[in-house]
Amino acid sequence: MERIIIGKIEAYQVNRIREFLEKGLDDIGLEYSNKKVLLKPNLLSGNPPEKAITTHPAVVDAISGILKDHSCDVYIGDSPGYESTARVLKKAGYTGVISRHNLKVSLFDKKIEKRYDGISPYREFLLGDDPDGYDLIINIPKLKSHTMMGLTLGVKNTFGFIHRLEKAKWHLRAGKDREIFARVLIDIHRIVHPDVTILDGITGMDGDGPSNGRVRDFGIMGISKDAFILDHYIERMIGLSQWLPVTNEALRNALVKEYDIVAHGNPEIDDFLMPQSMATDWNIPGRIKGFLRGFFIKKPRLKKDICEGCRICMKVCPANAINFTDNIPVFDYNKCIRCYCCQEMCPNGAIKV
Ligand code: SF4
Ligand code: SF4
Repeated sequence: MERIIIGKIEAYQVNRIREFLEKGLDDIGLEYSNKKVLLKPNLLSGNPPEKAITTHPAVVDAISGILKDHSCDVYIGDSPGYESTARVLKKAGYTGVISRHNLKVSLFDKKIEKRYDGISPYREFLLGDDPDGYDLIINIPKLKSHTMMGLTLGVKNTFGFIHRLEKAKWHLRAGKDREIFARVLIDIHRIVHPDVTILDGITGMDGDGPSNGRVRDFGIMGISKDAFILDHYIERMIGLSQWLPVTNEALRNALVKEYDIVAHGNPEIDDFLMPQSMATDWNIPGRIKGFLRGFFIKKPRLKKDICEGCRICMKVCPANAINFTDNIPVFDYNKCIRCYCCQEMCPNGAIKV
């Protein structure tokens, strides 16, 4: 039976994190000596670690130290929302870690075609790096809420493997259907097949994440070889009344196996605030939901007084549903697919749902 290691870690102290990880990786039986390793943190956008938008560099520092002491050749990479990987690494505080451990950076700018017969209606996927080019992939998500999918955890984090030019296409293909998007996320995760997922929940985010929510000191870290069970466990810990789309689809397709939990300290998450988008759409039952989806899913709305006219929302909108009038974004709700990429990427929190 697979195992989840979960621990109470109050602060980003590299030695304390390293101690937890060394024991945890040993507990789950991960072999990691002399390997070519890819670290895949959440590098959504170029923001400092205290904003809790990206995986904290102290976690990557601790992992890198362990791997280097075991003669590994270590790469780090992700495909951010709209900035370059190099820029996000710099702004998210990774410069010291990269030079200290002599990490190699993968810019996720290759074009790797993968064919996969999974649970989504699609079979062809274009990735920014080849997961099969590494002996070991370490998936390092941040524990955050997510306006479209409820939470972003281990399975969702591997969406970053999709080539940057193709991310919008996947949002467009799924449209307003979160179940289809969840199945796409699951297929991508299974193509990437990380060897271990290490969840950074020391600080995280709730409310209208993954960029503009509330920063929270959850004080937890999790380790598992299987991101499906780790995501399942975190949703249980938060105390949700229904499974979120990714876990729901994973359960339907028998991808959530039985698991053991090894807990260190007393890890708990209290009063987790889910995104406001869940208040309406999520509680509409089955078939009715399909019909009413267009009416009930919340629309993105502008807070004009905060908007600085940077046009990032327009650049990231997969549906071309944002135009500018007098330097102010205007939404075309007939085109809008309610993916909330605009809300996710607005650097000023000027888009609400
Ligand atoms: S990304 Fe935000 S600040 Fe920039 S134009 Fe759009 S709404 Fe305004
Ligand atoms: S306007 Fe915003 S929510 Fe609507 S499709 Fe564009 S990015 Fe997605």
